[in-house]
Amino acid sequence: MARPGYKPRFGKDMRIKPDVARAPVKQVRVCDSKGCAGEGNFRVPASRDKINEHLWFCLEHARAHNEHWDYFNGMSEAEIEAFRVDAVTGHRPTWPLGRRAARMRNGHDGHPYDDRYGVFADVAEKPRAPERRLLRPQIVALDTLGLEASATLLEIKARYKELVKRFHPDANGGDRGAEERLKQVIKAYGVLRASGLT
Ligand SMILES: [Zn+2]
Repeated sequence: MARPGYKPRFGKDMRIKPDVARAPVKQVRVCDSKGCAGEGNFRVPASRDKINEHLWFCLEHARAHNEHWDYFNGMSEAEIEAFRVDAVTGHRPTWPLGRRAARMRNGHDGHPYDDRYGVFADVAEKPRAPERRLLRPQIVALDTLGLEASATLLEIKARYKELVKRFHPDANGGDRGAEERLKQVIKAYGVLRASGLT
């Protein structure tokens, strides 16, 4: 729009900027409450499962929405309980304790990371323990300790310590049965140690 006194020099308005700065369009958000013409100045989460989606309300409707929005609405008792337990860890994933779990965290077991290009494929596919052939006495010994054929030396040692404690005469008031069991445990451990399992 040309100013009244302005005369274009070449008969044509070559100015780039308009005379009047365009008034910034005021972004008015309308309240998301149906039929309300108020300004939606207050942001609230849409619902429990859409916590990242928001609605904009006027103050009055924001208050009403928050009052009626029950976070646990529609959840079963068990789900609510699970949520509360989960809340203790801030809803971050947790891992069980233990060696196997520790390997998972270190990324040496399964695919805890997104290996889209297969860079670590050969590392990740490594089996947990190499295949091993067990002899009859070793199988019997593992069975005596209540362990599986894949048990590692560390697991064998831990189990041995546990059973020695359990069947020790001191802990069993001189019970003959426990003493006999302890002898078997010690013998089985000896067999496994001598067989060079890892
Ligand atoms: Zn409203």
